[in-house]
Amino acid sequence: MTTSDIHRMTLSQLKRNLEAKNLSSREITESFLKRISETNKSLNAFITITEDLAISHSVEADEIIAKGKAKSLTGLPFAHKDLFCTDGILTTCASKMLSNFVPPYDATVVKRLKDAGIIMIGKTNMDEFAMGSSNETSYYGNVSNPWNLDLSPGGSSGGSAAAVAAGLAPAATGTDTGGSIRQPAALTGVTGIKPTYGRVSRYGMIAFASSLDQGGFFTKSSEDAALLLTEVAGLDEFDSTSSAEPVPDYTASINNSIKGIKIGLIKQHFEEGLDEANKKVLEEALKALGSQGAEIIEIDMPNIGLSVPTYYVVASAECSSNLSRYDGIRFGHRAENFNDLTDFYSKTRGEGFGSEVKRRIMTGTYVLSAGYYDAYYLKAQKVRQLISEDFKNAFEKVNVIAGPTTPSPAFPLGAKMDDPIEMYLNDIFTIGANLAGLPAMSIPCGFVNDLPIGLQLIGKHFGEESILQCGHQYQQITDWHQQVPEDFK
Ligand code: GLN
Repeated sequence: MTTSDIHRMTLSQLKRNLEAKNLSSREITESFLKRISETNKSLNAFITITEDLAISHSVEADEIIAKGKAKSLTGLPFAHKDLFCTDGILTTCASKMLSNFVPPYDATVVKRLKDAGIIMIGKTNMDEFAMGSSNETSYYGNVSNPWNLDLSPGGSSGGSAAAVAAGLAPAATGTDTGGSIRQPAALTGVTGIKPTYGRVSRYGMIAFASSLDQGGFFTKSSEDAALLLTEVAGLDEFDSTSSAEPVPDYTASINNSIKGIKIGLIKQHFEEGLDEANKKVLEEALKALGSQGAEIIEIDMPNIGLSVPTYYVVASAECSSNLSRYDGIRFGHRAENFNDLTDFYSKTRGEGFGSEVKRRIMTGTYVLSAGYYDAYYLKAQKVRQLISEDFKNAFEKVNVIAGPTTPSPAFPLGAKMDDPIEMYLNDIFTIGANLAGLPAMSIPCGFVNDLPIGLQLIGKHFGEESILQCGHQYQQITDWHQQVPEDFK
């Protein structure tokens, strides 16, 4: 690869080039900033571009490298989903409500990456408060899919996915409450990992549904996902749900062969909701894993079909509680003309939130209200437990579960906006891992109608090593993850 290919290199390749002094951090950073200035108009992947800051950090990084003091990620550019608080930099969650919010601190994920030497180049577009599957609920307008600008990149982390797919950033953060890393990763042809609930600190990640939210990454390879996770995972005193489980070096175990590994296929995921063309491509991907010595076993998960309705009760309930803090007094947008306090709240929230967020808050408030709590919220929690037990039973027989990430490839912008249920069904295969708190990733595994689709790998709790290993081994014998959209070569 030559310097004109900087935007196509993985983080690991860029790192090796920095170490060998073939490239400087400034060169790399400026090359991504140039691509952003040339192409962000058509993609709308970024809400904020931190150009000056990034250049001055890259100059500092080059000095650090020259002194031989580089850390693991020194000098590498990176984008953050605009849901991670960034000290002194606008953090909007793609909502009018937070369109003027400048946090006074960094999220733990942001801080740990900064401490490892990463350079932030901007904040990416997303669905408002991470609610959506198409990146069309953003106050800042939709993101387009680099494979075809008339299509959705998926959501809610659509900006991060599109940025990595189009080579505007070598890697980016995302968050996944019901699929928001894996689904857009699949629809844009990149690698996306959602770690185990509690593996990565949620401190400074603006909350949607606290028992489901988990931060993770978009990358060009499983190797890069392992590199980033090794820096960011681990206990955080600011997040009581973060885990003290020791953090391995994820980059070490990815090289192990997958011979003898048992891979389960959820029977139900191949029976209903999956397009025939996707199924064919997936079968090839599974054959490739089989050719590397993995044993493929069918598993039965009788309750998995209840994931979507269960999620929309639990997630909406938690969001109605989390979003009650936006009252116009402490954060963000504030109505100007009002008669009394109630009018002030209602105008502030009426003006500040978009319609999907309002729909979730209303659904959540309803399922938590007296008289409906037992029938909906409590029932959903019980079903959530049954789904977790399905996974527990499955993992007694297999090491990893593999299957589809999405039912079909990317869909046209606007196609599902008038039908929320149809939109919600796009997460039919991803939500289970969130309900059970399991680590899961999506890797590119082929094309349907010239559009990328993803293979989902789900691991046991804290089993990131095994999914990253399967992902990396698969990427050693396939090149789907190296395909780039024609217009962004
Ligand atoms: N698409 C799902 C939703 O709209 C999941 C979102 C997410 O993972 N943040 O809630």
